[in-house]
Amino acid sequence: MLNETKEFIKEMYQIGDKVFDLSEEVIGEIGHKFDELKEIREYNQYKVLSAMQEAKLSDMHFNWTTGYGYNDIGREKVEEIYSKVFHTEDAIVRPIIVNGTHALTLCIQGLVRPGDEILSITSAPYDTLQGVIGIREEKGSLKEYGVTYKQVEFLENGNVDLDGIKEKINEKTKLVMIQRSKGYAWRKSLSIDDIKEAIDVVKSINPELIVMVDNCYGEFLDTKEPTDVGADVMAGSLIKNPGGGLALTGGYIVGKRDLIELISYRMTSPGIGKECGLTFGTTRSVLQGFFMAPYVVSQALMGAMFCSRLFEKLGYEVLPKFDDIRSDIIQCIKLNDADEVVHFCEGVQAAAPVDSFVKPVPWDMPGYDSEVIMAAGAFVQGSSIELSADAPIRPPYNVYFQGGLTFDHSKMGVMKAAQFVLDNKLK
Ligand SMILES: *Cc1c(COP(=O)(O)O)cnc(C)c1O
Repeated sequence: MLNETKEFIKEMYQIGDKVFDLSEEVIGEIGHKFDELKEIREYNQYKVLSAMQEAKLSDMHFNWTTGYGYNDIGREKVEEIYSKVFHTEDAIVRPIIVNGTHALTLCIQGLVRPGDEILSITSAPYDTLQGVIGIREEKGSLKEYGVTYKQVEFLENGNVDLDGIKEKINEKTKLVMIQRSKGYAWRKSLSIDDIKEAIDVVKSINPELIVMVDNCYGEFLDTKEPTDVGADVMAGSLIKNPGGGLALTGGYIVGKRDLIELISYRMTSPGIGKECGLTFGTTRSVLQGFFMAPYVVSQALMGAMFCSRLFEKLGYEVLPKFDDIRSDIIQCIKLNDADEVVHFCEGVQAAAPVDSFVKPVPWDMPGYDSEVIMAAGAFVQGSSIELSADAPIRPPYNVYFQGGLTFDHSKMGVMKAAQFVLDNKLK
């Protein structure tokens, strides 16, 4: 490390000797793991590049239309490229999908009808989806429309309960939901092999069941995606992995053509579907971000591994460990109390390029049932492929750290978080 860099870290960023020395030690220990990431990154880079070439992407596709948005060739090109990368028949990729929850909601609402049952086989779904389904009371939930819900809990060892799936599927079951990432839960994220095994069981019971995967935070972690192992439909957020930090907003849905049609009828209107809708000049940044995404994801992963090992060395329980196989970009750290959660997030915020002078505070975020704190000094509001940390303020006080468009930045975020937590212990 250059002496100038050391000065930066120690003087400007006020990192004490303990955290600095530990960081150096961690880099020495985990450097070889970084090399392994390169293989997946390189494959995914060429996967995205070849999709853009095969689709004959050209700069005319960065223009946009007005009004109804019929024949918007840029919008159609973005959706074609997404379906090529995820190996699906069709795709919806739109700035009018406001977040990941919205993309997933459109899938669920488009695919079920009154009297149908939804089965989540990865325990309770992400907090915001609970209100959509009606697990948590919310006006307009699917429960109000006569859609019922069941879930299969994880086994003690964190695996999907394959026998439980068999028991819970019945003649009403229509849609089977799988969440790849841990969300706000202390569990391992499902690998592509785990997802394949579960889908195979579902399809062996009834091949007509629709399997939907919440792929948030999972894109480009592996050479395969859930749609390569049997998922019928999959959705995620453009301000997470696939937006590469450049997409300003949006969500994506990819899958079988008939299912995408049903979902598109929910997104706009029955009979209109995906033929309408403006892109508002977002196609260039969405595609440039998609192009950058495999690289950015690898940087965020290096940051997550660094975070894991550093906090492990500081005596905290972490999930996953630095050398575990990863299937999302999230690093979970079990802190001791609400104060530590707040200080951790303050540290991450203090490392941000935007709003570094702001103190994050817990608030009642819509869609969550406890207060949530978020450190996010991002160029794109709420972007969690950018360096960020969040946590619901409730026991067991897990904080979720993710993102970083560059490893160096992610590393600084981790060091600041560690420093803030340690400083406040000494007070
Ligand atoms: C982020 C996320 C979502 C959707 O969250 P939004 O904030 O609405 O984008 C859904 N599921 C999982 C697992 C997530 O990580």
